[in-house]
Amino acid sequence: MLSTPLAVHDHVRRRSHYLDVAVGTPVQYVLEKVSSWEEGFVVRGGDLLRDLRLRIDAVVGGGELEIHLTGPERTIIPEPCIRCAWCVEACPTLVHPAFVLEAAQRRDLKMAERAGLGACIECGVCAHVCPSRLPILDAIREIRGLKPG
Ligand code: SF4
Ligand code: SF4
Repeated sequence: MLSTPLAVHDHVRRRSHYLDVAVGTPVQYVLEKVSSWEEGFVVRGGDLLRDLRLRIDAVVGGGELEIHLTGPERTIIPEPCIRCAWCVEACPTLVHPAFVLEAAQRRDLKMAERAGLGACIECGVCAHVCPSRLPILDAIREIRGLKPG
């Protein structure tokens, strides 16, 4: 049976597990073997900051290297952007994330492109540093789905 190396990082209990898992094994089965998954916990695949959510009923694929298990999500503070520019300073590809967020709220693709949307590598650093916990990465992915109009 084809198997793949898999690291499971349990951020709730601060433990990591390094496994060799058969391709096609359900993620839920893996998590129950090494951790105790609970309702409300969030499962992500790949790099944590990229925020690529996995459904619990997904299966391990050949290219999967990492799974992250985190507790229930913190509430997003319903405050507007406070213009601190932390996201701008942190962006490795010189995008203006706050401006992209604003463009997404206006559904204005041209404005997002002027803010450097094309250079975004979806690393998630901007959303990670944002003190208002604004959904910048979600906004980037959403506006990328808009057709030029
Ligand atoms: S997700 Fe995009 S905009 Fe945000 S820090 Fe990474 S490259 Fe920059
Ligand atoms: S880090 Fe958050 S609050 Fe600060 S400028 Fe960027 S989007 Fe606005």
